[in-house]
Amino acid sequence: MRVHKIAAIGADGIGPEVIAAGLEVLEALSTKDGNFKLEIEHFPWSSEYYLKNGYYIPEGGLETLKKFDAIFFGAVGSQQVPDHVSLWGLRLPIAQGFDQYANVRPARVLPGVKSPLAGGEDIDWVIVRENSEGEYSGNGGRAHRGLPIEVGTEVAIFTRAGVERIHRFAFRLAQKRPAKHLTLVTKSNAQRFGMVMWDEIFAEVAKDYPDVTTDRELVDAMTTRMVLKPKTLDVVVATNLHADILSDLAAALSGSLGIAPTANLNPERQFPSMFEPIHGSAFDITGKGVANPIATFWTAVMMLEHLGEFEPAKKLMKAIEAVTANKVHTPDLGGKASTADVTKAVCEYIAASE
Ligand code: ATP
Ligand code: MG
Repeated sequence: MRVHKIAAIGADGIGPEVIAAGLEVLEALSTKDGNFKLEIEHFPWSSEYYLKNGYYIPEGGLETLKKFDAIFFGAVGSQQVPDHVSLWGLRLPIAQGFDQYANVRPARVLPGVKSPLAGGEDIDWVIVRENSEGEYSGNGGRAHRGLPIEVGTEVAIFTRAGVERIHRFAFRLAQKRPAKHLTLVTKSNAQRFGMVMWDEIFAEVAKDYPDVTTDRELVDAMTTRMVLKPKTLDVVVATNLHADILSDLAAALSGSLGIAPTANLNPERQFPSMFEPIHGSAFDITGKGVANPIATFWTAVMMLEHLGEFEPAKKLMKAIEAVTANKVHTPDLGGKASTADVTKAVCEYIAASE
């Protein structure tokens, strides 16, 4: 029996609902498979926990998480806590503390799902987001508060090592895909230091991957290309901020924010990686039982692949696609199904599979 230790952090809003659904389908898979098992430990870290204790992650919390093979994460964000406090309190300390520098965000139109783009069913992209530095380095400051000369700085820090490793990661990922194409996104016309360095290092690294074709796009032009020429894209590599924005657009173009998954990887496996849906805590639908759990299921597929469970991962993806093709859709996809309906349909497909 292969055993994997998973830390589950549902956190805020619909996070606990979709994580519970995700664990249910994982349990169904492991029961069906019989050869692997997930040992789940739940952590109550959330905004509610923060309001009670004054911190999101208790002392020694990251040390505790280190012992796990993967982290299965819901969403953080609450109406009672400013967003910059909650994000920097829970998600970023884990991602940065465990050097999860490669954030992988696939976007594909699943069977039975309609893209808002005319002819957009061909979307099949992977956005690789630099996840450890850049605009989210946490450097900057405020001065002269309230005065006319008040200033606020937000400093993006790019290091050669940080940029090179994300480019190499993106090239290796592109090599594994049929189209073998990588698009670099920067803003090097207006931002002439770090962004130009991104372009230069990309060109250097490209020499080591001659089988991958490449092109470049400015981030503003990229938004129009995603909408108007979606078929020209395969793998995309961009900075922390740019890729964050582009992947929300990609999720919407693939049908809904409720289906988009993400993996925060520490590719060298010195530390655990973290798997989460792209979406946030979605207060408007919290507690209503209608959150789309597909993003979390797809996230679970990525987690299984990371754990080396390739067959169960394939089986789960097949189940997801069968259920979306069958139009068991939550309201965000135009359907009437509940979170529980979709979860049940996926579990039943798994139980009935070969
Ligand atoms: P964050 O700042 O954490 O990225 P956000 O403010 O961008 O969060 P989300 O919480 O992601 O916002 O929600 C954006 C919209 O998408 C909301 O209308 C929400 O209801 C919808 N949404 C997000 N996730 C889902 C889901 N799993 N199922 C259905 N609708 C969703
Ligand atoms: Mg968002």
